Amino acid sequence: MTLEQGKPLAESRGELRRAIENVEVACGTPVLIQGYNSEDIAAGIDEIMIRQPVGVCAIIAPFNFPAMIPFWFLPYALACGNTIVIKPSERVPLAMQQVFALIEKLKLPSGVVNLVNGGRDVVNALLDHPTIRAISFVGSSATANYVYGRAAAAGKRAQCAGGAKNPVVVLPDADLAATSEIVADSAFGCAGQRCLAASWAITVGEAGRPFSDAIREKAASRVTGNGLDETVQMGPVITGESRSRIEGLIAKAISEGARAVVDGRNAKISGFEKGSFVRPTVIEGLPAASEVAHTEIFGPVLSVHHVENIDDAIALVNAGEYGNMASLFTTSGAHARKFRYEVEVGNVGINVGVAAPMAFFPFSGARKSFFGDLHGQGRDAIEFFTQEKVVVERWPKQWTRKF
Ligand code: NAD
Repeated sequence: MTLEQGKPLAESRGELRRAIENVEVACGTPVLIQGYNSEDIAAGIDEIMIRQPVGVCAIIAPFNFPAMIPFWFLPYALACGNTIVIKPSERVPLAMQQVFALIEKLKLPSGVVNLVNGGRDVVNALLDHPTIRAISFVGSSATANYVYGRAAAAGKRAQCAGGAKNPVVVLPDADLAATSEIVADSAFGCAGQRCLAASWAITVGEAGRPFSDAIREKAASRVTGNGLDETVQMGPVITGESRSRIEGLIAKAISEGARAVVDGRNAKISGFEKGSFVRPTVIEGLPAASEVAHTEIFGPVLSVHHVENIDDAIALVNAGEYGNMASLFTTSGAHARKFRYEVEVGNVGINVGVAAPMAFFPFSGARKSFFGDLHGQGRDAIEFFTQEKVVVERWPKQWTRKF
């Protein structure tokens, strides 16, 4: 090409590399061309893949999003032709009853979508029932791990989403006013009872002091109270037992060396003296190796840590045991790209505090935050709720008879 056309050798080599790349991609044609329809794989031979319903599927849900989480699975399972049993959390049985009042109006054939209530024993009955072929679980990691193991041992397919301990990393080039607002919403929204809630903030370099000052102010000014009051920003935690557990973990963090710079314990909300309220809490100075630093608090508690550079921040993120979400706050594209590739989590936020995927993306999760392979929502859900069947057919020309 250089002799004939005149371009420099480096350009000729580059052109040829591009030609070779096309040959390599074209070698994948059997896969690239494959649809779910008939393929003429050899003379007179077709191969097709069909998807069929898995059968009876069960959904076991947690307390924190009683109406939404079953829908990560229910409409996909139904659209794929399965029948479904839903077991909500025993702590919030009413929301699904409302949903079922609407489902009744669809006049689906009886037995297609079913509701059962109960706790551990009902879960075990579902896991052991031979007719149930697939389990979709969302809850704490210990239970997710247990459910995954027991379902798999019984030969069922299972997708089990577990707990979280989500870090947000704040770089010095971030817009700190916007960042502190977004992080406060992430950490204290839903009273911190959200699997994508920020539960620790890692500040880098000069972001440390200004972020820490801003987040304290946001925490202290958040309005806590009765959720029916439109001016309230944060309601109670789920039970008194949960409140005691969260307050116990704050006390333990302090005993492990942390300072509660905003302390939300012993909250008294006028008119709701018996409510399970914990106000927003910010702790600083918790040693990274301490027990609380690795425990999911699932309450409105943000722990602030400080490191000198982004590599240390990513190392800290990856040293955590959970892998649900990690977010970065920055105005640098290069740092955003590095973070997105290097953090070992299922959902990544860049300047986003709650990186919840839209319904056409899988609700991912990694390490102790997810057991299984196919997730809820989108294309993953279609694969989970269908059984693939591949058919090879031989129809040679000579078998075609004239009538
Ligand atoms: P949980 O694990 O206590 O309960 C979840 C479900 O499992 C409930 O239906 C419950 O009845 C059942 N269950 C509880 N203990 C069981 C046992 N020993 N054996 C069998 N079944 C049992 O969880 P929770 O407190 O309701 O929900 C909060 C947890 O869920 C948090 O850890 C949170 O991070 C997690 N969560 C994760 C996601 C995600 O997408 N990864 C989403 C929401 C909540």
